[in-house]
Amino acid sequence: MNLHHTILALFVLASCSQTVNTSISMNPKTEGNEVESLEVVEAESFQRDSAVDYSTFTNEQWKEILTSMEYHILREKGTERAFTGDYVDNKKSGVYVCKGCATPLFESTTKFKSGTGWPSFYDKIDDHVQMVPDNSYGMQRSEVICAVCKGHQGHVFVDGPEPTGLRYCINSKSLYFVEKN
Ligand SMILES: [Zn+2]
Repeated sequence: MNLHHTILALFVLASCSQTVNTSISMNPKTEGNEVESLEVVEAESFQRDSAVDYSTFTNEQWKEILTSMEYHILREKGTERAFTGDYVDNKKSGVYVCKGCATPLFESTTKFKSGTGWPSFYDKIDDHVQMVPDNSYGMQRSEVICAVCKGHQGHVFVDGPEPTGLRYCINSKSLYFVEKN
């Protein structure tokens, strides 16, 4: 994969300028999400510092390292429009990490074609993923969050395939895919 290293102008977090152990870059992709009114600032790089404690971040700090849509999904429990995410049809081998803090959340080996328009997994990586009750919009659902930074990822349903019977329905924008060779 040809990684494109361009520093996002907004990404001027002083604490990230020294030790960058968890440093990954991404190519910008066209954004197409349900909240069209948000100012869309495209991320041209993805860099997270494993020395940073993202669990203590304020909203202002999150806004410095996330795009507006990533912030909307991760910090405001937003949802990208179906079939618009970069990873819906991604069949490459690798691991999906949290866009907020780079914690590994899902393995590509547990990804399956659900037809829903969102990346779907039948299992999570250990205790890196947490579930919390979500009774919004008149529905009883189980919200999926990153166990480390508590960033919203999506929801989990009980209509998934074996061996778990679960379907983790996750936003592409809250993930970053790290390909394994
Ligand atoms: Zn996280």
